[in-house]
Amino acid sequence: MSDNSDIIIFDTTMRDGEQSPGASMTHNEKLALGELLEAMGVHVIEAGFPAASQGDFEAVSEIARRSKTATICGLARSTPGDIERCAAAVRHAAKPRIHTFISTSPVHMKHKLKMGANAVLEAVGRSVAQARNLVPDVEWSPEDATRTEFDFLCKCIDAAITSGATTINIPDTVGYSHPEEYGNLIRSLREAIPDSDKVIWSTHCHNDLGLAVANSIAGVQAGARQVECTINGLGERAGNAALEEVVMAFNVRRDGLPFQTGIDTTRLSTASHMVSRITGFPVQFNKAIVGKNAFAHESGIHQDGMLKNAETYEIMKPEDVGVSKTSLVMGKHSGRHAFRDKLESLGYELDQEALNEAFKRFKDLADKKKHVFDDDLIALVDDQLSAVGERISFESLRVVAGSQGPQTADIVLVVDGERQEVVREGNGPVDAVFNAIKAIVPHGGKLDLFQVHAVTGGTDAQAEVSVRLKGEGIMAMGRSSDPDTLVASAKAYIHALNKLEARRLKRMAA
Ligand SMILES: [Zn+2]
Repeated sequence: MSDNSDIIIFDTTMRDGEQSPGASMTHNEKLALGELLEAMGVHVIEAGFPAASQGDFEAVSEIARRSKTATICGLARSTPGDIERCAAAVRHAAKPRIHTFISTSPVHMKHKLKMGANAVLEAVGRSVAQARNLVPDVEWSPEDATRTEFDFLCKCIDAAITSGATTINIPDTVGYSHPEEYGNLIRSLREAIPDSDKVIWSTHCHNDLGLAVANSIAGVQAGARQVECTINGLGERAGNAALEEVVMAFNVRRDGLPFQTGIDTTRLSTASHMVSRITGFPVQFNKAIVGKNAFAHESGIHQDGMLKNAETYEIMKPEDVGVSKTSLVMGKHSGRHAFRDKLESLGYELDQEALNEAFKRFKDLADKKKHVFDDDLIALVDDQLSAVGERISFESLRVVAGSQGPQTADIVLVVDGERQEVVREGNGPVDAVFNAIKAIVPHGGKLDLFQVHAVTGGTDAQAEVSVRLKGEGIMAMGRSSDPDTLVASAKAYIHALNKLEARRLKRMAA
């Protein structure tokens, strides 16, 4: 960070994002995401909450070990045990950071912490000093800052700075603030606190009112130089400020917002796909920057304008965010070389083995479907990647459906390396398929959502199925696609089940 207009992008997809109900990520998925975030030029990666579970600890440690340029950060409550655990996880990073926090609002102190103001103030100084003894880079957050009494907030921040904090983050934990108010808060704090120019100020805004990005930008205009955000705006409840929106706002509106992030924006689309695939959360079609329709023009007037000059209705180019301009259609005669180039243009760099597997799947698909579009390839590769290393995997399915019951499913799964086959009946073919899976892998999860979309147009289109399972207070999303709706359903259910099981084990360990 050289210039005063440089913005530090702090990604918390793997910490705050993973806290959203149903969005669990496996160890390998976190490593892959960490690698992509670093390649994009994200400056700080909050990789997890090391004291929360052994799994979180291991993921943060491994991401720290693999990091080259990015700062790797772990979250810690203000207790000595949390901070030690966090330091042990991030210490392998070239640039380690501890992010410690405590609630400072009256409602949080009274009901959540059951601590008085003096005890909280004392904890701030003690926790930051401890963290600073372990690593040189310490971030401190007053949780629920926007509902904290101003004088007390100043005292706490002052204590954090005096004890060695290098970044002060101001969370709008409940997503209640609006841009003018949030900007004023950052400005007033910077004016009121004596050593405010010795630290970097940071925004952390939640999206409960849809204002997370607007609030973050107001914070930057008021002097903040770090923005905490997540890919696709993932996060608790309505989520966090979306990284892609913050980055592109600064990119497109350099005139009015003269700040730069240095992020390689051509990877935004890939990052969005990856996070959607990993979590099973679909991206809303009209989502800014990365939604399927973000660059689609449908009305005749718009299309006509676009053909004459793209600038008539386009404020940024699809290529700027990694969406390829020409949708070159692939078919059964497309060769391996063209296939690999195509995947690369879509942001996928597969190793030889994965590429061979994807090519085989592509040929199978091209046999069933005349035109294979970009969206088909994305669905195909995402499907393949999400099945890697999972405990339960799909092998084959035969279903009897139609008006002459009973509807039955004959399914073959591989569970922990062992091939198992069962036949089950159901109230319709989907029910039969799910009953069969449950017979092989008994579990307490209940089907909470079942959704089918067509990946592209046409009756030969692939079906994309989303499944959400719910059990014992945990949720898991699964997604899959296939030209056969029932095969896609089975695979989506298995994807969700793998995540539900992983999340259950994680909770047992914690
Ligand atoms: Zn948060």
